[in-house]
Amino acid sequence: MAETSSPVALYDEAASLQALQRYGILDTPMEPAYDDLAGIAAHVCEAPVALISLLDSHRQWFKASVGLPLRETPLDQSVCRYAVRQPGVFIVPDLAKDARFAHFSIVTQENPLRFYAGAPLVTPDGYALGTLCVLDHRPRHLSQKAQDMLCALARQVIRLLELKRANDRQGQMLVELEEARRQMAVLAHTDVLTGLANRRSFTARLLQEQALLRRDGEPACLLMMDIDHFKRVNDVHGHHVGDQALQLFATLCRDVFRAADMVSRWGGEEFLALLPATRVEQAQAVAQRVHDALTTHPVPGVTPPLALTVSMGLSNFDPLRPLDITLRALDSALYAAKREGRNRTVVV
Ligand code: GH3
Ligand code: MG
Ligand code: MG
Repeated sequence: MAETSSPVALYDEAASLQALQRYGILDTPMEPAYDDLAGIAAHVCEAPVALISLLDSHRQWFKASVGLPLRETPLDQSVCRYAVRQPGVFIVPDLAKDARFAHFSIVTQENPLRFYAGAPLVTPDGYALGTLCVLDHRPRHLSQKAQDMLCALARQVIRLLELKRANDRQGQMLVELEEARRQMAVLAHTDVLTGLANRRSFTARLLQEQALLRRDGEPACLLMMDIDHFKRVNDVHGHHVGDQALQLFATLCRDVFRAADMVSRWGGEEFLALLPATRVEQAQAVAQRVHDALTTHPVPGVTPPLALTVSMGLSNFDPLRPLDITLRALDSALYAAKREGRNRTVVV
């Protein structure tokens, strides 16, 4: 059974405005669904004008307007402002005879509007946002049945607004979900401490690169780097300083290597770099730049100054050799560098 009147409308200017804002409806384009409800209201009430009027802080704004070529009017020209302060349909049989409205421009204009009937648009939590109203050019009345229909249509306007809000929320959630998924994907490929590629993503990259190299026949190099006596850094200065030292190393790598090169954190204090389109002699120069950068950039916050050194194994990246064999050869070169006194690069 249809409800015969709207619930008691709460019109508290600030709270109602806040309630209106959560729908994000103000200044949206006209939409057929709202136009339809205004059109039906006009038809049911046999009135030439029907409006879905929403009360903003300084104006009433029309989501739909049938028979009146306006999208908004100032608040001091609003009959709806009175309509929302009382329950049920607010009826003014003759605007020209009501001191509150007689001076309004819709009443003083050529072809004036004289009759007003408005049903408040009340949210499920009881806030009146505005009205669904009809106006006529002659003084008149509105039957009880038509008033009931106007209230029913006002409830449908609120349904549309609620639906929009649910859709907007769902859209927002999808955006947030996509962002979370993107962040997870980045995290899955990144070492948290240094921001470099982690071993898993770098292995995939190496396999891809191998396929490319097989096709293009370009030279490429791999450089395995292991910080010397790193355990001592932790033991003497603490794990926190050890972490900072690893971050420093990653930062220096970002400066020293070229944009096309890719550096990964391969293990604890071990880093593996891929240098595409690079011959061994060129890679040796890059390795030397790493050694040099470490001597001039001590670990921050440590006195006396502590410069890291690194041992490296360097080899060309032969795409025809299985990756694990190449990595084992690199490891051997790295340990040869350690054996030979550290702080040096050994070429396979
Ligand atoms: P070598 O010159 O032979 O490479 O000696 P080393 O001390 O560098 O090598 P070792 O393998 O004995 O020690 C590596 C140390 O790196 C031990 C481990 O606690 C430390 N380490 C690994 N990951 C991290 C990390 O994320 N943060 C810190 N602070 N230390 C780490
Ligand atoms: Mg080490
Ligand atoms: Mg190591």
